[in-house]
Amino acid sequence: MRLEIIQPDDWHVHVREGEVLQYTIPEIGLHFARAVIMPNTNSPIVSIDAMLAYREAIHAAMGQTSFEPLMTLYLTADFDPSILKSAKEFPWFHGVKLYPKGATTGAEQGVLNWLEHAEVFEQMVLLNIPLMVHAEVLSPDVDVFDREAVCLEENLQPLIEAYPTLRVVLEHVSTQEGVNWVKAHYPQVAATVTAHHLCFDRNALLNTRIHPDLFCLPVLKRREHQQALIAAVTSGHPGFFLGTDSAPQAARDTYCASGCAGIYTQPYALSLYTQVFFEQQALAHLEGFTSLNGARFYGRSPNTQRVCLVQKPMKVPEFLPWALEDRLTPICAGQQLAWQVEGV
Ligand SMILES: [Zn+2]
Repeated sequence: MRLEIIQPDDWHVHVREGEVLQYTIPEIGLHFARAVIMPNTNSPIVSIDAMLAYREAIHAAMGQTSFEPLMTLYLTADFDPSILKSAKEFPWFHGVKLYPKGATTGAEQGVLNWLEHAEVFEQMVLLNIPLMVHAEVLSPDVDVFDREAVCLEENLQPLIEAYPTLRVVLEHVSTQEGVNWVKAHYPQVAATVTAHHLCFDRNALLNTRIHPDLFCLPVLKRREHQQALIAAVTSGHPGFFLGTDSAPQAARDTYCASGCAGIYTQPYALSLYTQVFFEQQALAHLEGFTSLNGARFYGRSPNTQRVCLVQKPMKVPEFLPWALEDRLTPICAGQQLAWQVEGV
């Protein structure tokens, strides 16, 4: 079976920084026309200069492939809202990312009390800049599997009520509650959905053995949440779109006594998403999810290029090259995927 679709965009990806860009960047241009680059690098992207330098480093690492990197700023506790006006002048500036402090890898400089940042949100509303949110609370009183649902209630709902014209993206939605919330508040809010949250539930991570390469944040949830995500994206609802949250890291950071969260999906994500839609007999809605809904929400034009998806088995390598004599374990390492991406 062959399927031709408008070239997709990845509305949420981590590419890390420095030497490893040579491994993380060229993979994106193979399948995606645009990619929203997350700002949680070792020194967070909090200024125009940092954003320009990061974008230049990304371009320098592209090699033979190309895509448009859409850049984001990291909302730190001392974020200066006055830079938003200058940021907005760059057509590739995409939005502001909010991490609750400590909620995931690279979120140490995130925010504690969201509504304290009124000046930032007011400026974003004025300039029509979207806010992308890692929607989890980090509290010893909240179970790790409940962090998203509690965050919706405690942080996100008050935020959208306080700023009813602020556009908000619930990044990597992982629960039934998240799906319901997006449906209730679309088009003010929307959500990105990862391939791994669609393909796996928490049994894949924590069964009779632990699989650290499937540890991500938000953590994989129970089966009914996975099913709610599948139903939402395959229904064709315009409030859900592709964001891989592909998060590459050295294997030594995955397989160790205190492993980091992050799943590397980028080169295989499109195969996995296609398989999900195929299994649900919903291929008619695939293009909306991969290539149209995100562009529409963000007010950008759909891509003009097309890609072809072919139902042809492909084996994922056991590992990929990485810097400093280490390696990178991709999602589904050593396994066979059912779909491949071809140019048109
Ligand atoms: Zn992320």
